[in-house]
Amino acid sequence: GFTCGIVGLPNVGKSTLFNALTSAGIQAENYPFCTIEPNVGVVPVPDTRLDKLAELVQPEKVIPTTLEFTDIAGLVAGASQGEGLGNQFLANIRETDAIGHVVRCFEDSDVVHVGGKVDPVGDIEVINTELALADLDTVTRNRERTAKAAKSGDKEAQARLAVLERVQAALDEGQPVRALGLTEEEREHLRDLHLLTIKPTLYIANVDEGGFEDNPHLESVRAHAASEGAGVVPVCAAIESEIAELDSEERAEFLAEIGQEEPGLNRVIRAGYDLLGLQTYFTAGPKEARAWTTRQGATAPEAAAAIHTDFQRGFIRAEVISYDDFVEHGGEKGAKEAGRLRSEGKEYVVVDGDVIHFLFNV
Ligand code: GDP
Repeated sequence: GFTCGIVGLPNVGKSTLFNALTSAGIQAENYPFCTIEPNVGVVPVPDTRLDKLAELVQPEKVIPTTLEFTDIAGLVAGASQGEGLGNQFLANIRETDAIGHVVRCFEDSDVVHVGGKVDPVGDIEVINTELALADLDTVTRNRERTAKAAKSGDKEAQARLAVLERVQAALDEGQPVRALGLTEEEREHLRDLHLLTIKPTLYIANVDEGGFEDNPHLESVRAHAASEGAGVVPVCAAIESEIAELDSEERAEFLAEIGQEEPGLNRVIRAGYDLLGLQTYFTAGPKEARAWTTRQGATAPEAAAAIHTDFQRGFIRAEVISYDDFVEHGGEKGAKEAGRLRSEGKEYVVVDGDVIHFLFNV
């Protein structure tokens, strides 16, 4: 699976957000394939398309796809030098595929700020500096080794050295590696270093109830994020944790009262999903309508592996109806009659929203 790590300084609202995510979440026993630890939450990915498919197909069960979040507590200034839970913290981040960086954009004199005042860009810099220092350490050591090999005429090492030099210079300035716009080939040279600042990152701005507009803290986060090409999702963690406690009827009422169509958490979940480069396809039959996750750009056999590895190995072909066609023609039968069911082979690149039936050998 893919996991999005939630990081941030203490007291910015990480746990509040994480708990809201997981209490809105699903029962671990329904997902025996994931090992769930206390700091890991498996969260259903909200998708109105699945509801629409279920309406058309009327299956016995409707199963959303999921995304994993990991709560990574304990980052303080000095972590890269082993302060706080420094090394543990960095090791935990290393295992994630993307980073959701929570920053405090709410004022509340009852909640102590570790830096003495609410300063989201300052907070971002504290964390990014720690991550950049940890990467700098990794890169510097690797560069020394690579330089030796490059000197003895190793062409591969020479190419790698050029990338390492560029990366080291950026890290020296406190710039995250992800902001460098490296090519796939350049990234390949760095892959085995498992750098922290190369991971796709999103800022989650924790604002007050009324802090979605005219909030200078939020604006400063947006400006900073734009400078690194990162996204920002504003959310009010305190309200989200209240919403997560409600049953579905109360929830609908509450959302109507505050003039929202859906919980703000949905935006966080979807942004995490996009950040990870994921997309959804569906299977829809009388037993179950289900959403599945695959990498954007995945071929049909690769996508089939989300269901079962045997599906990938024994892949014959995929019968595909695009989501829009499926809905427009009232389901599989109608889409087929309208000639909208395509038979696709193993080179087919799955499109977000495809409704797929896999044919395979066992
Ligand atoms: P963490 O240390 O980053 O995990 O932060 P917590 O989630 O424990 O939150 C720290 C404190 O801030 C708690 O007292 C929360 O109730 C409070 N808090 C979290 N989110 C909000 C928010 O959106 N608005 C306000 N006013 N307080 C919040």
